[in-house]
Amino acid sequence: MEQRLDDVLKKIGQFPGGKKDPFADPYGPTSNCFSSNDIVRMFELGATLRDREHFGTCEACKERIVKHAEASQPPVPARRKRWFGLGEPILGVGGAPLGLVYSPATCVVDQQGMVESIAMEILTKVSPELMGMEVTLNGPVVGSVVPEWKGNRFYIRNVRVSSDVVRILREHRGYIQPAQLQFGASASAPRLIVNCNLEFSRTAE
Ligand SMILES: [Zn+2]
Repeated sequence: MEQRLDDVLKKIGQFPGGKKDPFADPYGPTSNCFSSNDIVRMFELGATLRDREHFGTCEACKERIVKHAEASQPPVPARRKRWFGLGEPILGVGGAPLGLVYSPATCVVDQQGMVESIAMEILTKVSPELMGMEVTLNGPVVGSVVPEWKGNRFYIRNVRVSSDVVRILREHRGYIQPAQLQFGASASAPRLIVNCNLEFSRTAE
């Protein structure tokens, strides 16, 4: 929907309310500040190193991101309960808020398809109750584990990559795929959802 509106605005060659592109131009005080598109991308694919650096130095952008995360908690309509079966994961719409994460390191995959460690930092608020909760991984990494926490950082140890990642890494040195992590006692009722691109490489042979 947003993309379509963007296309229409480009086609007519103007933006309402002045020259600013409401989606692509930065909103904060500097030209490095995040645009609305940047914020949507970050919540879908995780923060890049450049995003992380700006987040650490710009209070205006930090505040926008924290507000976006707080506003992301969608109300669960009563009807939805009939659309999904019991125990079926409701990806991204389970009433859980979104968090923003930054993953600083490549995930090294061994020959058995195991990743020894995935490091992540949550840039939005972390409630203490999350620590100790299980996290369920979807996408390129699969399984449920209880991460190790150090402040806002957490480490996921000894998880298996999907058979697709194993297959692709037989032919390519590196591979990037978006992953989703759901924190909570059960995958059908997550307490926090984070999305992040994960970069994989195989161990040196
Ligand atoms: Zn900024």
